[in-house]
Amino acid sequence: MHTGKKTKIVATLGPVSDSPEKIHALIQAGVNIFRFNMKHADIAWHNERILRVQNIADSLGVSIGILIDLQGPEIRIETTNAADISLKKGAHIVFAHEFRGTEPLVRIPQQLVFDVLNTGDEFSIDDGFLEFRVIEKQDNAFVAEALDDCVIKHRKGMNIPGKDIDLPSLIDDDLKKLDMAAKTKVDFVALSFSRTKEDIEILREEMKKRNVNAHVVAKIESQQALDHLDDLIEASDAIMVARGDLGIEVPIEELAYWQKLIITKCRIARKPVITATQMLQSMIDNPRPTRAEATDVANAVFDGTDAVMLSGESASGRFPVKAVSAMARIAKFNEDKTSVPHIRIEQDGTTELVVDAAVAMLEKHQNITIDAVIVFTETGHTARAISSFRPKVPIIAVTDHQKTVETLTLSYGVISVFAEFPSGSFESAEGMLHQLKKSQHIREGQTVLIIHGVHWKQPGLTNSLSIVKVA
Ligand code: PEP
Repeated sequence: MHTGKKTKIVATLGPVSDSPEKIHALIQAGVNIFRFNMKHADIAWHNERILRVQNIADSLGVSIGILIDLQGPEIRIETTNAADISLKKGAHIVFAHEFRGTEPLVRIPQQLVFDVLNTGDEFSIDDGFLEFRVIEKQDNAFVAEALDDCVIKHRKGMNIPGKDIDLPSLIDDDLKKLDMAAKTKVDFVALSFSRTKEDIEILREEMKKRNVNAHVVAKIESQQALDHLDDLIEASDAIMVARGDLGIEVPIEELAYWQKLIITKCRIARKPVITATQMLQSMIDNPRPTRAEATDVANAVFDGTDAVMLSGESASGRFPVKAVSAMARIAKFNEDKTSVPHIRIEQDGTTELVVDAAVAMLEKHQNITIDAVIVFTETGHTARAISSFRPKVPIIAVTDHQKTVETLTLSYGVISVFAEFPSGSFESAEGMLHQLKKSQHIREGQTVLIIHGVHWKQPGLTNSLSIVKVA
């Protein structure tokens, strides 16, 4: 729903938020994209909920993006009979490649892990909260000591900082999820623990085989990803600063530095960027965020992020709608009050020149006030280019591709609208402005900046800029 904020909200759907009423309320509170974490629940659950979200969005007449988050080379542990395992500090527990009857143990599906871990090595589970040390190696197994009292839960992530394990880019289960994505229609496919551009290329190949037409989001959550950051940004369509794992894989004091650097690089590359994890963590249990959390959301806006993300807060917490609404309010207030750092983009084509001129007009506070930028776009490229400057006015991206409508849900300040384009040369936007007035995207008397090409329906040929008073 158009809450007036420009920063987009990605909310993870889970058991506390998947009812039609909750989905409806979450959209009204400001969710732009629902994230489906494929590491939890089965295909049928996700399939059904994706269709549910799409139906509700259609009935509300809003564009909501669907993002599926694949496991990729992330290590997820399993517990015997999916039961919690409680351990006291100093207790020993077996980690093995296979379950052994009903003996409570932790299974690690990726066998390579047993080759790289040695006696004395330390590792963690569940976003770094549970820490262990290997004390004895066995055949395809090891015994570890709990470094604190802890409860190991089924399907939690495992981190082994400093070890680059040559795991495959995708697991079999990811391929099944892509089969589902082909049928269900998703807009974004995120790859956990993306390491190099080869991981992204392998994902794209598998998506192509299945006709999954979606944007690829590289999740940056390891030192290896940071080492290949420029390549990953170039190879993917969007980036997620996945702070949960990144904050374990690199020293915690480095996290804010990397967040700022990744956001700036993404803006320069005109790729949307999501800042994720623990933004309003305490709202899993409380109706109000802590001061530090509210400041964290605001700081991500100051850094220039396109989107902020909720995980446990919206998937399994007690206050999913309140969390979205707090996030929306914090984002809106701080967008209005501050400006993000200026960036310079290489003017490597006519689109960039036109975008640069448009941004200069918006920024120079000339005598005329511009109320909105209207971009006629096929692929969304021009809208993303304008968006990367984080202008203060809405960017109304009009497109005749439903996929472009949906993928632009992630871009800062963009309101994407579907319209049938006429064919032939672009003579006037009058008919389109009339439609936008009817749909209340613009109002009579407003002044809009229109960006378009010489021909309707021809991507890459944006070369014109006009200022129009809406009649
Ligand atoms: C993260 O680590 O921040 C993240 C978003 O990934 P996941 O939720 O899959 O652990």
